[in-house]
Amino acid sequence: MRQTDPEHIAIAKSSGIKIDWKDGHHSEYTLQYLRDHCPCATCAEAHPDAPTAPNPLQLYKPKLRMEKVEPVGQYAIRIHWSDGHNAGIYSYDYFREICPCRECKPPQA
Ligand SMILES: [Zn+2]
Ligand SMILES: [Zn+2]
Repeated sequence: MRQTDPEHIAIAKSSGIKIDWKDGHHSEYTLQYLRDHCPCATCAEAHPDAPTAPNPLQLYKPKLRMEKVEPVGQYAIRIHWSDGHNAGIYSYDYFREICPCRECKPPQA
């Protein structure tokens, strides 16, 4: 077992994921944050800095949620999003890497 393995994972399908790590670190990810950081090839190729043009035909945007979360091997999970996307496999290493807390991602001066 590594210090960067999760000790406990709390999944709330309509709000986000919280992870307590074995080294005592705590991470909280909102749904939108996780969706924006989808590690699949398609999303990785998209230009994250390009502004997403609002779709004028889409008058009603359903609230993002996780339909299903399934374990992939020992060290990853796959998230099925309510928008139909499910290609992203989030490893725990990746979760740790994108931890949005102030300690891991100090606010830019
Ligand atoms: Zn993706
Ligand atoms: Zn952190």
